[in-house]
Amino acid sequence: MDFEAFFATKLSGLRDEGRYRVFAELERRAGSFPAARRHAGGTVDDVTVWCSNDYLGMGQHPAVIGAMHEALDACGAGAGGTRNISGTNHYHVLLERELADLHGKEAALLFTSGYVSNWTSLSTLGSQIPGCVIFSDAGNHASMIEGIRHSKAERRVFRHSDVADLDRQLSEYGSDRPKIVAFESVYSMDGDIAPIADILAVAEKHGAMTYLDEVHAVGMYGPRGGGIAEREGLMDRITLIEGTLGKAFGVVGGYIAGSAALCDFIRSFASGFIFTTALPPHVAAGALASIRHLKNSDMERLAHRQRVAQVRARLDAIGIPQLSNPSHIVPVMVGDAAKCKWISDLLLDEHGIYVQPINYPTVPRKTERLRITPTPLHSAGDIDRLATALSSLWSRCALARQVA
Ligand SMILES: *Cc1c(COP(=O)(O)O)cnc(C)c1O
Repeated sequence: MDFEAFFATKLSGLRDEGRYRVFAELERRAGSFPAARRHAGGTVDDVTVWCSNDYLGMGQHPAVIGAMHEALDACGAGAGGTRNISGTNHYHVLLERELADLHGKEAALLFTSGYVSNWTSLSTLGSQIPGCVIFSDAGNHASMIEGIRHSKAERRVFRHSDVADLDRQLSEYGSDRPKIVAFESVYSMDGDIAPIADILAVAEKHGAMTYLDEVHAVGMYGPRGGGIAEREGLMDRITLIEGTLGKAFGVVGGYIAGSAALCDFIRSFASGFIFTTALPPHVAAGALASIRHLKNSDMERLAHRQRVAQVRARLDAIGIPQLSNPSHIVPVMVGDAAKCKWISDLLLDEHGIYVQPINYPTVPRKTERLRITPTPLHSAGDIDRLATALSSLWSRCALARQVA
């Protein structure tokens, strides 16, 4: 086989469909976020980032950076092994305790990313529990879908956030079948929030375990940043809560929180936990500082909410269509892959505004969008420039406006 030709053909297929991914090469600047330097074609420009998942700017918070420097100097660069073989650092243990406390659970377990935590936990539960059926929300993230697929357990997909459909599908199985209901709290692309209490009620009725991905909510919602389930007082009814240290907490890593037996079980049987080098100690120290800070400080969350409201109001005032939702994610709908890419390119090249286009397969075709994520660190001037630039590009592109 001509492998090179095969790769080239597959890639040109992506290009023809307008789905070829082009990365913006950024230098994030600690202390200046959301400003960054962008490298392109041998030149360097200043840009304002409007699509970061560092939702609260914790990636540059002095408490986080300070803790990381201290741990780096104290412990050195890497963990030095897997958790089992010399890689369990004191900071990992402290961080797992902090996470368990954040979610009101007995225990927590760290992974190298949120993706790995979902993939590994669901594939381990699904493959180890005899006769297990996993009920997966149609909007679930790729990491959950792939983990479920890999488990080879029977999988049922229920309509997105549709409690009646979930109930119906659960009813098809007898009480002897172990069941897991896997879903998210804040869905990343539409910014909608699951009816967690209703899903829990149905799952409890059928004796199902519940698996909740709070990746886009941890740090962001709830009085201590425990997520939507904390805000709604539901954490104790969820079997397993999964989160990331890479979004609002501003560092990197993933985790699950649950009962001591559940976490010990995953620790003991999950390949993706056992056979990989532990997170560097300074990463754990940074995440620990970030979580502790956001547990005790509401200031970032309040400022963030205000900024999101300001961005939404500005876009509404100029008729830029946005998907309304109850979260912090502002999806500006373009509905055309080529135009979406074109607007994003011009925002970057002519206005110094960076918003990555979101195209199929991340979102369905015809719902291509700019996923805007305001942070407390975007200034009134940043919002002005964003609104002005979008308004002029909307006119140039002859896109429809939304009448408020
Ligand atoms: C980003 C994301 C993940 C993966 O988390 P990482 O820490 O980035 O690997 C998992 N679930 C959802 C819903 C996500 O958006």
